[in-house]
Amino acid sequence: MARVLDEGAIAQVADAVEQLCCLEMRAPGSTFGVVRPLASAARQLQGAAPMLLAARALADRLHGGDAVIIATGFPVPGVMPQGETDGPPGAAALARALAQGLGVRPYLLGEAATLGPIRAACEALDLPEMCPGDWREGAVGFALDAFPEDELAEERAAELLAWLRPRALVITEKPGENRLGITHRAGGLPTGPGRARIEVLLRQARRGGVLTVGIGDNGNEAGLGALTEATRRHKPFGEVCLCPCQGGIAAVDPAEITVVGSVSNWACYGIVACLALTLANPELVHEGRREERVIEACLAAGAVDGFGGEVPRVDGIPARVNGQVVDILRAIIRVALGRP
Ligand SMILES: [Zn+2]
Repeated sequence: MARVLDEGAIAQVADAVEQLCCLEMRAPGSTFGVVRPLASAARQLQGAAPMLLAARALADRLHGGDAVIIATGFPVPGVMPQGETDGPPGAAALARALAQGLGVRPYLLGEAATLGPIRAACEALDLPEMCPGDWREGAVGFALDAFPEDELAEERAAELLAWLRPRALVITEKPGENRLGITHRAGGLPTGPGRARIEVLLRQARRGGVLTVGIGDNGNEAGLGALTEATRRHKPFGEVCLCPCQGGIAAVDPAEITVVGSVSNWACYGIVACLALTLANPELVHEGRREERVIEACLAAGAVDGFGGEVPRVDGIPARVNGQVVDILRAIIRVALGRP
């Protein structure tokens, strides 16, 4: 029988979700041991479990028919020109859960080069692509667009905000500018050109009172500016990077809500799980078998593992294990809601 949970129980379930999605699973090196301190800083700053906070803010602020912009894509010319397997799967899972759970219209943004993997991830989750002009009452699907990489970003951001009137902007696993305006990979090197200037949209959205959620796993991502100090302190290359700018990898543009995970995808799945909890609908969390197909689809569309190689892994973690994490998340929510 379905169970109605009190506030204390919801907080405990959200803690379990947060613990799973922030589990340290990295090889010793420049990203090792970073998740805990960043996640703790995010929690301390916001006074509650960030994944639950994000899920509730989205559920409160978004209503049926509203547009939500979800941006992702981390292309690095010559290394991973079409981006990586972390980013699109999380963005797609959020798009699916928000569309199915709240009846909103997800408008996904990437770069021309990363649209393939983003589209593949959404389609692997059975979310159909549609033109915004075809959006009708009750239609569930996603729209997809490339955001400018140059000075056209300002104008395009203003156009998108005026046209879509989004109630929320979610950014996951996108390069974020440091204090000198340079974007970096987690390992300390610059990303180089060819990335959407999403910070421009983030700043305009914040000024316009749009709910903004920043998601990342190393502190170098757009929207993680609330964690600049923590990133400088705890992340190798946070203070000083490996490139001539010497400004460190810590991103400076904050979002209203900041969420950190072991893998940015997992942070998205954690938000989805908390949304499933909030709406008492465990089906919003996809299945582990599906997760494996999503990662394979991204790979087939040109994305690679951010830790190296055209292999079905995300940040070095096998697709199967990503699927297992998703299955455990589903189980946490199902058991808590009395529907094991
Ligand atoms: Zn630098």
